[in-house]
Amino acid sequence: MIIVGGGIGGLAAALACGLVGARAHVLERAANFSEVGAGIQLSPNVTRTLHAWGLAEELKGIGFAPRKLEAKDAQTGLVIGSLPLGQRSQEIYGAPYFTVHRADLHRLLLQKIKRSGLADLSLHCQVDEVIELDPMQVSVLQLATGVREVFETDAMVGADGLWSATRQMVVPSTPPRVTGLLAYRALVPMQSIPEKLRFKDVNVWLGPRLHAVLYPVQGGDFLNMVIVVQGPLPSAMEEWDHAANKQDLEAAMGPAHPHLKELIGAAPAWRLWPLCDRAPMQGPHEMAKGRIALLGDAAHPMRPFLAQGAGMAIEDAAELAKSWSRKDMSVADRWNAYAHARWARNAQVQQRSIRNGQIFHLTGPMRWGRNWAMKLFGETLMDSPWLYAGP
Ligand SMILES: Cc1cc2nc3c(=O)[nH]c(=O)nc-3n(C[C@H](O)[C@H](O)[C@H](O)COP(=O)(O)OP(=O)(O)OC[C@H]3O[C@@H](n4cnc5c(N)ncnc54)[C@H](O)[C@@H]3O)c2cc1C
Repeated sequence: MIIVGGGIGGLAAALACGLVGARAHVLERAANFSEVGAGIQLSPNVTRTLHAWGLAEELKGIGFAPRKLEAKDAQTGLVIGSLPLGQRSQEIYGAPYFTVHRADLHRLLLQKIKRSGLADLSLHCQVDEVIELDPMQVSVLQLATGVREVFETDAMVGADGLWSATRQMVVPSTPPRVTGLLAYRALVPMQSIPEKLRFKDVNVWLGPRLHAVLYPVQGGDFLNMVIVVQGPLPSAMEEWDHAANKQDLEAAMGPAHPHLKELIGAAPAWRLWPLCDRAPMQGPHEMAKGRIALLGDAAHPMRPFLAQGAGMAIEDAAELAKSWSRKDMSVADRWNAYAHARWARNAQVQQRSIRNGQIFHLTGPMRWGRNWAMKLFGETLMDSPWLYAGP
């Protein structure tokens, strides 16, 4: 089997398939297997899957266990809702809630694959054409040498992210949707945060047309910050990772509580990601066709407002391996079973992520209504049993 893309999704798929005895060859176009620096949250539906792959100890080593998720009003600074995580996540969902640096999670998956020799990994390999013969032919441009090579395979998984080239083999290709939302991201040494403002939770600040998500990563040594605002788009959308400056961020935010401003002021540098997504999936036909399956952002890029993009890629990987194990079925039937098992949950997460963003950014009387409802029913509104209990 060939897996196109060695991000979190592609490596998770290679590992999961390797654990059920299927040997995958991961083709990654970059010169190194790496992830750009930023944090991600891993909810219990995701950590449970990683535990099942034998990664519990390693995950504990790289994960930070926040005590609670706290929502605050971005202008008044008042706490409007709270959801205990730590012990509660373990008790109710049987798995921890962690925040991690995505590079650490990516490295953990990579090391597990390398140490166990469960998959083949190739760098500098940009897949640029897939020919549906029997067996399939995957044409690869070796970026280091400029030489073209053709691999033969019985099955392929497109895990090549938001700007997927393999997606067009499954569904008619349209570019991802531009959301008009900009995510400013920073990673700040905890030492440079004023002591009175340090915390050990996931903090979500909600304001008119903006929200901020802040949490510690790397054993609490760094604070990961993501501020999402509505604003004009930089011209080159493919360049999704831009250098950014604090003045533009502050101008886009408008009025904010002094504590939030102080936290933002502590960041030495900002990166800017214009957020793109796709409309929620309509059916299994968007996840697999013949001997090609899609996984992660290649299949269902989503807004990050439920913190589940990598999580759904990891859940996809687990299901992909399960479907692959059904040796009585043809490859096309196995991928079809995978698509049927996964599409509705992915669509639901895509839909809820959009809705969360709308709720986070409410203005005027709706904003006060939201704050009031969260004050009264915070724990119930902020918990997601349908999601955290797993697929
Ligand atoms: C602001 C923000 C916050 C987020 N927070 C969270 C969070 O808290 N929790 C969470 O679970 N998710 C979060 N996400 C989402 C998460 O980052 C993504 O959903 C996830 O990383 C997608 O992984 P992937 O492997 O599918 O795609 P990618 O990470 O995009 O990997 C694709 C890989 O394929 C390679 N590739 C591309 N084209 C080719 C080709 N033609 N040939 C060979 N290789 C190719 C690329 O180089 C890359 O390595 C967040 C996203 C954003 C933007």
